[in-house]
Amino acid sequence: MSDYVKELMEEVIAKNPAQPEFHQAVQEVVESLALVLDRHPEYRANKIIERMIEPERVIMFRVPWVDDNGEVHVNRGFRIEMNSAIGPYKGGLRFHPSVNLGILKFLAFEQVFKNSLTTLPMGGGKGGSDFDPKGKSDAEVMRFCQSFMSELYRHIGPNTDVPAGDIGVGGREIGYLFGQYKKLRNEFTGVLTGKGLNWGGSLIRPEATGYGSVYFAAEMLATKGETLEGKTCLVSGSGNVAQYTVEKILDLGGKVVTLSDSSGYIYDEEGIDREKLAFVMELKNVKRGRIKEYVEKYPNAVYTPVDPEKDYNPLWDHKADCAFPSATQNEINGKDAQNLLKNGVYLVSEGANMPTNLDGVKIFLDAGILYAPGKAANAGGVAVSGLEMAQNSMRFAWTREEVDSKLHQIMKSIHKTCKDTAEAYGTPGNYVNGANIGGFLKVANAMMDQGIV
Ligand code: NAP
Repeated sequence: MSDYVKELMEEVIAKNPAQPEFHQAVQEVVESLALVLDRHPEYRANKIIERMIEPERVIMFRVPWVDDNGEVHVNRGFRIEMNSAIGPYKGGLRFHPSVNLGILKFLAFEQVFKNSLTTLPMGGGKGGSDFDPKGKSDAEVMRFCQSFMSELYRHIGPNTDVPAGDIGVGGREIGYLFGQYKKLRNEFTGVLTGKGLNWGGSLIRPEATGYGSVYFAAEMLATKGETLEGKTCLVSGSGNVAQYTVEKILDLGGKVVTLSDSSGYIYDEEGIDREKLAFVMELKNVKRGRIKEYVEKYPNAVYTPVDPEKDYNPLWDHKADCAFPSATQNEINGKDAQNLLKNGVYLVSEGANMPTNLDGVKIFLDAGILYAPGKAANAGGVAVSGLEMAQNSMRFAWTREEVDSKLHQIMKSIHKTCKDTAEAYGTPGNYVNGANIGGFLKVANAMMDQGIV
């Protein structure tokens, strides 16, 4: 670690106590950026990095709501408006009991680089609440969303800040949030993305993150003259990103053998085919059930519950070629990374945000495998959100094929930016440096142009 990075990290840790995920995200980025600062002392003189790690604005608010039994609950709501140098703040809302300020700041910080990589004009933001939608009735989720938006509406807008979904926030939640925003503002605008198709949503938005992560993987394989055909793949999670990752892997001829949720994972040696995937989609999106029910329907598969005593995740300990972590942050530690390599995995494409901890990242980079960090590999979701914003502004809708082809093009362009930038900065094949530096330069130059604000 250079002296500059060391001093910066000491300051980040002192100024942002008890935010380990934020420290981790900043450290990974500034280690890459040390390469840039040697060539561009003007960024250092203008304190570009110091400004980028300080959110432009943090909003934290009370979200009171009443459950079906008349009991009152109080959750905490957040919106982090991180950086608006290249466009309105843009990033998802996460509803999960683990949500806190540090987790949302890490996600907002990552979002700035990711959005820059998409080539679209979007700044970075993130928000959410420690509310847990699991086990709640539709009416309870609706009342929570209405209360959440009753405060958030004054801080967002189609040209200011455009939230979307993330963990725990899917089509149902976006619908309730949009309805309340429209009622309070008395205007119909593209203030949220991930909307329903009948009221301003874009085709391919639900598929975009998973499809994009697989398109990125295909681009990486192409650099070795390979394709996904016949490759065995490990996928974690079973939500939005995981489901469409499986679908696109199947389209490209690969085989998926795992899926998980926060209670455990399934291993299906025969492969998760389209019929089994349809079962998982119904189970998760309609019945809102648990992944262990998969083995009741398909008894040849094996279910393993989470064991908190274990210092590794057995999902990553199966023979495979490729891994698509698509659940949550820090789901691959150093031991998991070693297990993946030992089992033959030579490609990791991160559908989730920061699913690999710093030890794991180092192991992948040292091994020289094809490793795509989340801010590049999962940028397809926000890219199609950007396309949704463009369609809303035009009051026009593109076809499925048009949006998919634009998504594919964007993922190819992100891959090229990462690959070329890594080479230009003397670290060929290092997609972490490529993504961090490639995303940084556009935002940094915009900040230079706009003065000290
Ligand atoms: P989702 O539909 O809510 O699914 C999340 C999945 O991850 C569920 O299977 C969930 O299991 C599992 N999970 C959540 N927290 C977990 C934990 N602590 N341990 C183990 N499993 C856990 O959310 P999603 O949209 O697919 O998001 C998944 C990841 O992709 C997140 O990191 C998100 O930030 C990232 N991402 C999403 C998008 C997007 O467009 N949606 C875009 C870019 C990145 P349970 O059901 O048991 O909670």
